[in-house]
Amino acid sequence: MFAAKTEDENLDEKEKDKLEQEKQGGEDEYEKVCYVCRRPESKAGPMITMPGDMCLCHDCMQKAFDSVTNGSLDWSKIQNMPFMNMNLNDLKNTNIPEMQIPPRQKVKKKSDAKKLDFELKDIPAPHVIKRKLDEYVIGQEKAKRVISVAVYNHYKRVYMAAKGQLNEDVRIEKSNILMIGPTGSGKTYLVRMLAELLNVPLAIADATSLTEAGYIGDDIESVISKLLAAAGNDVTKAERGIVFIDEIDKIAKKKTVNTRDVSGESVQQELLKLLEGTNVEVPVGSNQKNALTPMETVNTDNILFICGGAFPDLEEIIKGRLAKQSTIGFASVLKDEFDRDPELLSKVTNEDLRAFGMIPEFLGRLPITVTLQKLTKELLVKILKEPRNAILKQYVKLLELDEVKLVFEDEALEWIAEEALKRDTGARALRAIMEDFMLDIMYEIPKDPNIGSVTITRAYLERKGGPAIEMRSGLLPHA
Ligand code: ADP
Repeated sequence: MFAAKTEDENLDEKEKDKLEQEKQGGEDEYEKVCYVCRRPESKAGPMITMPGDMCLCHDCMQKAFDSVTNGSLDWSKIQNMPFMNMNLNDLKNTNIPEMQIPPRQKVKKKSDAKKLDFELKDIPAPHVIKRKLDEYVIGQEKAKRVISVAVYNHYKRVYMAAKGQLNEDVRIEKSNILMIGPTGSGKTYLVRMLAELLNVPLAIADATSLTEAGYIGDDIESVISKLLAAAGNDVTKAERGIVFIDEIDKIAKKKTVNTRDVSGESVQQELLKLLEGTNVEVPVGSNQKNALTPMETVNTDNILFICGGAFPDLEEIIKGRLAKQSTIGFASVLKDEFDRDPELLSKVTNEDLRAFGMIPEFLGRLPITVTLQKLTKELLVKILKEPRNAILKQYVKLLELDEVKLVFEDEALEWIAEEALKRDTGARALRAIMEDFMLDIMYEIPKDPNIGSVTITRAYLERKGGPAIEMRSGLLPHA
């Protein structure tokens, strides 16, 4: 956790795992699961292994014996249960199709569940987190600062919880985050980068797909199931992961509700417990609960929840409140002033969010609010060229392999940013615009091995001319 691993360290870890396995008598690190009741070894106790890699727990084995002794076992009812109605010794001679043997479910052993795998000094300080985020995320300075501090505090809390110091004199609350910002301003991207640099598992879910239990759609618990999968079914890892729930504004309370609201307010209600910290029973290796999937209990106490949304019209609500609060009655003058304020969104209060339709209990469980700004033309240009994984750098690298130098005129980058602004989807539009014209370049350039450099000009993007091409060692371009 925290420090991203190098290849060598990964190798070391594999070696260690191998040694550990050998110590345990060659057993692998995953638990056996009972073939009948689907409980893992940690819950049902030691398993009886049978031919065909089939395991039975003592309870189920006992039940089977009891039924036989009582003469009450109705074999006809278990016709479709492979192996149960046949002599197991015949198994080797039987041609059983592969499909009949269910894959062995993997549930990571819990033996080291309470082991603390990091020290206080391993948690990166806020300025370190921010510096790392700066390498990838352009602008959004305030958001990056707030998130860095919140995450730092969160993992300090996790540390204290693992040491059993959470219930001491000062109770530290969870620092779940509510992230508000227009589409394409980098909400998801910021969280992704955060999880990557902290080396913790991340699950991203869409609030619109969540419904109250029992309705069509994903149960709330499915987000934890995703997190467990992202953690490689390791419960300890999952319990320290990050869950990002996107489009949270879409589950705002509806203003006029005639029908039962299964995807709005009730979903907010159901999320409350998860955000606060509870034990959730989730299926392993599937997002559906049924008799065939083993279940695991995941505690959400130390999971960092980040909820994000664009919250359209929230600015209107903020403007309305600010205008009302003002004692001077020049409403129209004020409105103009607010319209021009690029920081308007950062003035949001819980009162505004309640007016938007979020329920107070829900907001209470997201104590940190972060706002992201709409990206300006200047920021979009920077996004094109500055991040470590900038789109522009990627194309330059690709053409470098053909020994061709790719150059973008500043005016050309501005044109791309202007086009992206027109589409109103933030930085998301950049890649699509870029791909549009780079396709031709990437197709044509390798045709002529004499081409040494290509400069993308604004005129080319405006379809008023071609790119500026230079040949190697003074050769003239082909007609
Ligand atoms: P949303 O706010 O809608 O969740 P995303 O985070 O999905 O937006 O952004 C879409 C893409 O745009 C990201 O994958 C990333 O490449 C790029 N992007 C958005 N904002 C930024 C930013 N501030 N810095 C660098 N890249 C960004």
